[in-house]
Amino acid sequence: MQAAREGRMAHAQLFWGGEGCGALALALALAQYIHCPDRTEGDACGVCPACNKMQKLIHPDLHFVAPVNSTKEITADKKPVTEHFLAQWREALSANPYLTEQEWYKTLGIENKQGNISVQEASQIIEKLNYKPFEAEYKIMIIWLPERMNQQAANRLLKLIEEPPDKTLFFLVSEDITRIIATIRSRTQPVRVPPIEEEILAKKLQEQCALPEAHASKLARAAAGSYSEALRLVQSEQEADEHFDRFTTLMRLAYAVDGLALMHWAEEAALWGREQQKSFLIYTERLIRESFMLNRQAGDVVYLLGEEETFAKKFSPYVNERNMEGIYNALNTAIAHLAQNGNAKILFTDLAMQMISLIHKGKT
Ligand SMILES: [Zn+2]
Repeated sequence: MQAAREGRMAHAQLFWGGEGCGALALALALAQYIHCPDRTEGDACGVCPACNKMQKLIHPDLHFVAPVNSTKEITADKKPVTEHFLAQWREALSANPYLTEQEWYKTLGIENKQGNISVQEASQIIEKLNYKPFEAEYKIMIIWLPERMNQQAANRLLKLIEEPPDKTLFFLVSEDITRIIATIRSRTQPVRVPPIEEEILAKKLQEQCALPEAHASKLARAAAGSYSEALRLVQSEQEADEHFDRFTTLMRLAYAVDGLALMHWAEEAALWGREQQKSFLIYTERLIRESFMLNRQAGDVVYLLGEEETFAKKFSPYVNERNMEGIYNALNTAIAHLAQNGNAKILFTDLAMQMISLIHKGKT
């Protein structure tokens, strides 16, 4: 901020820090600070027209590059570049400036591919920076994840990054500087973004997710300074709660040989989202394995939480050598069918019915 106020900004800065530590959020905040004509010593004003446009990510002197790849709509022959996906980018980044690379690919519908910064993208960067700033004093180009830039693109950008046009700033935002092409990295001024302090992260979790203080602290510690990781932990805990209820219902009904209720259970399971169905089956596999370990008196290797442990202790006598393999096979078959987009209702009905004989096989 001081460098901005004194008008002596390095023309190419490299903000780097681990996933979820806020390097992108910081670069954005600094860009807003630079563009705001009414900034104070400590922050942008937040209410002027420039701030307003920055917050909506539509300021004409703010440019973005992010790794992309071909999608259903923008096929490979159209040479995908960030410009094609600006609407998605603005939406994803507005919703969460701690956006992760995987979340971005998910937004684009390309979870199984990696994005890249191509030579076409490099050409677009050169073209965009060809103009004078429209409204602000500077043009700012934010390049997110420069480690995804290929050699060809890097070659094209070298000169521009070394000697940008007047009143042009490059903010590169990286999660892994060791993988940025060396000639690019050496032309930037690195700014390390440290992990978020545990107490700050815990406080945020407390407010945002309404968690009790002790629990928020525990999660913040496990997240090791990453806000994204902390949110993932909260989410998987919430899912585990739901899965636990679903799991115990399934097992109790199978034990009671209540075919009709099991049919209803399967009908409901068929309505969960596909991700939920998958994570439920994986969760079930884990609880079955833990119960089996308890049964084998290998309690010290068991990893269970509160109510899971209470249930597993009562349930473990029914999971043993006689049915363990059968239960495992049934779950694995269901997971495989799900992965092949099998009919969820048939699949869960089948699983629920098999569970009756499998659980009773384990009874002594
Ligand atoms: Zn302002």
